[in-house]
Amino acid sequence: MPELPEVEYTRQRLSTWLGRGPILACTIDDARLVRPARPSAVAADLVGRTITRVERKGKWLRLVLGGNLSLFVHLAMTGWFERASSDEPLRHERARITVRGGKGGKTGEKKSHVAYVDPRRWGRWIASDSEIPAWTALGPDPLREKVAPDVLHAKLARRKKQSIKEALLDQSLLAGVGNIQAAEALWKAAIDPRSPAASITPAELRAILRGIDWTIARTLKDLAKGDAGEKDPWIAYGHKGLPCPRCGAHFVRIDLGGRTTTFCRACQK
Ligand SMILES: [Zn+2]
Repeated sequence: MPELPEVEYTRQRLSTWLGRGPILACTIDDARLVRPARPSAVAADLVGRTITRVERKGKWLRLVLGGNLSLFVHLAMTGWFERASSDEPLRHERARITVRGGKGGKTGEKKSHVAYVDPRRWGRWIASDSEIPAWTALGPDPLREKVAPDVLHAKLARRKKQSIKEALLDQSLLAGVGNIQAAEALWKAAIDPRSPAASITPAELRAILRGIDWTIARTLKDLAKGDAGEKDPWIAYGHKGLPCPRCGAHFVRIDLGGRTTTFCRACQK
């Protein structure tokens, strides 16, 4: 599932691919993507508009268009964008935007086709002339905004029944952190993911925030390598039974709030 770094990487690529050319064509083949709006109505509304910039907050993307319209996109579990070089639809393609120009195309190509692919079809496209509730409800984005540790600490203090790991996944507290980034950040901060959120001290929270910055930067660096990136760049996530690089104990996997969590019992306290 794409988390903050993957969605940021998508944002960077979309910015390049879509350039500032006007949208020449748009097809939406999956009614589920835009419901309750009608696919043909959304597509018709996008055509002719210019994409002025691509923004991101947490796991949401926002294509800011001319005429005060925005297309908000959530990739959910399996959504991604891919450059398409012809009019042939890609496997699992659900929608497509064609713009004039756009960088990175074949030499001499006047159009740029960008396909939205989503095998499991849980993604969302919402065209709106104002900020949607899912966007405004998001907490600060660790990559875009300065997270105020004292504000976050006060919010965590009210989470009496929640573990710190579950709290980190709450998008209204911090935007963009998912299961992988939370596991990696807690390992870096040497904090037990089961610790009650309300028990986290200001010093521990600062260590967690540094851990989040560390894992996001690390993941972005790996994504920038493209196909040359690591197949498994993680240290804790998915490493059950493997040795912890900090202390040598074996990682364990537990269920926490319905999500699996891998951590080192020996050095994450
Ligand atoms: Zn360890």
